[in-house]
Amino acid sequence: MTKYEVIRQTIRDLGLPDYRYDQALDAIFKQRVKSYSDMRALPTSLRSALAERLGDSVLTVAPAAVKRSQQAEKLLFGLADGGRIEAVALRYKRGWRSYCISSQCGCACGCKFCATGASGFARSLTADEMTDQLLYFRMRGEPLDSVSFMGMGEPLNAPEFFDALATLTDPRSFGLSGRRITVSTVGVVPGIKRMTREFPSVNLAFSLHAPTDGQRAELMPVNRKYPLETVLDALAEHALTTRRRVFLAYVMLGGINDTAEHARATAALLRRYKACLPLLHVDLIPYNATEHAQFRASDRRTVELFSRMLARSGISVAVRSQFGADIDAACGQLAART
Ligand code: SAH
Ligand code: SF4
Repeated sequence: MTKYEVIRQTIRDLGLPDYRYDQALDAIFKQRVKSYSDMRALPTSLRSALAERLGDSVLTVAPAAVKRSQQAEKLLFGLADGGRIEAVALRYKRGWRSYCISSQCGCACGCKFCATGASGFARSLTADEMTDQLLYFRMRGEPLDSVSFMGMGEPLNAPEFFDALATLTDPRSFGLSGRRITVSTVGVVPGIKRMTREFPSVNLAFSLHAPTDGQRAELMPVNRKYPLETVLDALAEHALTTRRRVFLAYVMLGGINDTAEHARATAALLRRYKACLPLLHVDLIPYNATEHAQFRASDRRTVELFSRMLARSGISVAVRSQFGADIDAACGQLAART
């Protein structure tokens, strides 16, 4: 159960009226009260019952360290069991704020280029631990303009991930529209199908990174379980059902997956999905160096050539630049130095 469900249940158990739930959520989201015992609008019996069932602190994650650069802030959070996870807040021009959060403590997928993958796997986060990374920033008074599950872990492998999405989109708590949320996945097919059914307006990003099963399996062992075609079929279905764009991330690894031949193979692969081709969008991502991996970033010319080749084949493509790399807060660097 999420803390929001526990609050609702506790109110029922105590025979209190439903409006107490709105008051409790107001205390959290509007007055930003950090502990149940301080929620003055609530009767004492409820306050102490909540503190007993949930612990007195509203947040289940506690900030342990922070690193800042001009546009990025990386927050290291401690979990109740001593685990450590990270979230990143990015500030864009004109005040737009974007937050990148973790879904697991470590990751079991073991992608070769990823610092989280190299750090091993402890456990999946609870729904509260996922949403509390955002609640922390909300309680600092920051507007959550956009939120992405691109921190540590594979969201579609975290059993409580869909409960977290339900909380984030619940108008009574976070009230985020699905369009403000992006989920990045390595390609867990049953999870993608559930997204299509239950959260069609949440943005979906797929970490493609290689155009053939052979090479993708080498870089990303999960490809053995969910080969490219099964994932792309599910993504095509998602795009056609929801009429929403699907984002395909392609990290540019120098000399590994960035040749003209790779660009041609990627174009050919995607052109097999004619009906939804206009809804597919490729983002070329610069590789961020980590301590563990032996890769290097592709040079600029190579990236531009790759991008032009995709564009000429009729594929929507953008070259992404990244900030946050200076504080190890860029994609794939989380948990690099904790
Ligand atoms: N597990 C999910 C979401 C977290 S990773 C996934 O893999 O999609 C977010 C993105 O960062 C993914 O596209 C991932 O492939 C990419 N990434 C991982 N390591 C990276 C690195 N060293 N440099 C650049 N991107 C990286
Ligand atoms: Fe896990 Fe994503 Fe890193 Fe792969 S890239 S190891 S799925 S966090």
